[in-house]
Amino acid sequence: MSNESTSAPNFIRNQIRDEVEAGRVDTVVTRFPPEPNGFLHIGHAKSICLNFGVAEQFDGACHLRFDDTNPAKEEQAYIDAIKEDVSWLGFQWSGGVRYASDYFDQLYAWAQHLVREDKAYVDDLSPDEIREYRGTLTEPGRPSPYRDRSADENLDLLERMRAGEFAEGEKVLRAKIDMASPNINLRDPILYRIRHARHHQTGDKWKIYPSYDFAHGQSDAIEGVTHSLCTLEFEDHRPLYEWFIENLPVPSTPRQIEFARLNLNYTLTSKRKLKLLVEEEIVDGWDDPRLPTISGMRRRGYTPTSIRKFCEMIGVTRADGGLVDIAMLYHAIRTDLEDNAPRAMCVLNPLKVVLTNVEASHEEVYEVPGHPARDDMETRRLPFTRELWIDRDDFMEEPPKKFFRLAPGQEVRLRNSYVIRCDEVIKDDAGEVAELRCSVDFDTLGKNPEGRKVKGVIHWVSAAHGVPVEVRLYDNLFTVEQPDKDRDADFLEHLNHESLVTVQGIGEPSLATAKPEERFQFERVGYFCADRHASREGRLVFNRTVGLKDSWAKIQKKG
Ligand code: ATP
Ligand code: MG
Repeated sequence: MSNESTSAPNFIRNQIRDEVEAGRVDTVVTRFPPEPNGFLHIGHAKSICLNFGVAEQFDGACHLRFDDTNPAKEEQAYIDAIKEDVSWLGFQWSGGVRYASDYFDQLYAWAQHLVREDKAYVDDLSPDEIREYRGTLTEPGRPSPYRDRSADENLDLLERMRAGEFAEGEKVLRAKIDMASPNINLRDPILYRIRHARHHQTGDKWKIYPSYDFAHGQSDAIEGVTHSLCTLEFEDHRPLYEWFIENLPVPSTPRQIEFARLNLNYTLTSKRKLKLLVEEEIVDGWDDPRLPTISGMRRRGYTPTSIRKFCEMIGVTRADGGLVDIAMLYHAIRTDLEDNAPRAMCVLNPLKVVLTNVEASHEEVYEVPGHPARDDMETRRLPFTRELWIDRDDFMEEPPKKFFRLAPGQEVRLRNSYVIRCDEVIKDDAGEVAELRCSVDFDTLGKNPEGRKVKGVIHWVSAAHGVPVEVRLYDNLFTVEQPDKDRDADFLEHLNHESLVTVQGIGEPSLATAKPEERFQFERVGYFCADRHASREGRLVFNRTVGLKDSWAKIQKKG
């Protein structure tokens, strides 16, 4: 894969470059560590581009490792989807897929090691009591009454926890560090919890599961990961990450480096909240084109290139970058499709036009470019006949001054074809415009009309040859920039009820053979992508990826 879009310098890349140049690191190894408890979203794409991009830049390796320490929330279906998303983005993990659960035996042995060294103990306090004893940011914690059990007693209890002798919540294994530490993460953090749950990888083998903190750094060390890149909320966990690495006989010493997570306006990047939208059927599954999931964006029409480009545009910083404008994401896909999507004409809100000076049997076919600047693209065949569809929005019975499209007595050019004039407006019983009677100036094909200027150009489709298509017009899922800003309010209150408008349109014949996920510019309308599910069922459904107007580019120019 070209690493063009993933090689922009940033503080992490610079730091690693310095280490490599100073000979402090030999082979750079990173990892992308998703928990398989939901689908990946655009925030994960940032992490993926960073981790795989760093590995590419330094000729190193990037592992895909599932952080699967919480069987109750995890599923095989998520694992499959995550693998597909990473591959689709164009990245290849080094070696096979890895799992934190691959290391459960080793982690358990290390837990026993800590117990023997008097650095871990079995605690009988309840979860509520543990919270209470832990103290607060301003008050130190208090030691558990079980903190001074002997190593032998602890080893025996730990073994019995593992054998399933105790109920969930009855006991935990904790590290013995410092209950008065100003860093709450060091106040005897939990290493193991009892969970009588079946695990998607290890089945019923384990009745206890390691905490994220106890599993993560040690998994890094086992795999020889040199740089463990994670988001800022783990900054306060770093001393704990290092404590484990120092206090266990691990085979290597990875380092954790934090960066700011991506937050995008008008959407959510929390798996938990996305999951709620899916489960409540507010959206059409995890790959609903309105979701910022990788699979939703794919279904919407985003290309892997555009997502990688976006990740390059936003950069990677240590400081919290605030809210990123979703217009930037739209800009990234728009510029890609502008260059690469074939053009087509599609009428979303059809109004019949009858060309009174064209014979009913008349038919001419124009061979037009697939893309105005790309002669490598296949040409399209556009049939022109007596009856056409145009878009209702391109006609006004009483137009304002600068309306250059169709109006009674006014002329307009049909894209790739003749200039026509509207001679008569036919209405139905309800008084609605039902049809326009127009006439063609046959002396205008490929040239300007004699003695007058026709400014407007509109798109059209032959009524005899057009294909009916369903068009799904997607918009932002939320009406406010930060739907989950207010902790006390329900983010569902900010749902945009017009985030999906479905219309029945008529497309030019070339659209009849659109392949799943094929993308087009519908001229004058926007960018669209053949819905992968509908296409497979033989239905023509197009999802609007993004409109034509680029508000981001405009802001940049002004700024
Ligand atoms: P969520 O909060 O959506 O549940 P998570 O952090 O729990 O996300 P993981 O599956 O644990 O999800 O994340 C895998 C990796 O992706 C982690 O290294 C995490 O830091 C990173 N990541 C998750 N969300 C973002 C984000 N918004 N921006 C950048 N990186 C992210
Ligand atoms: Mg996580």
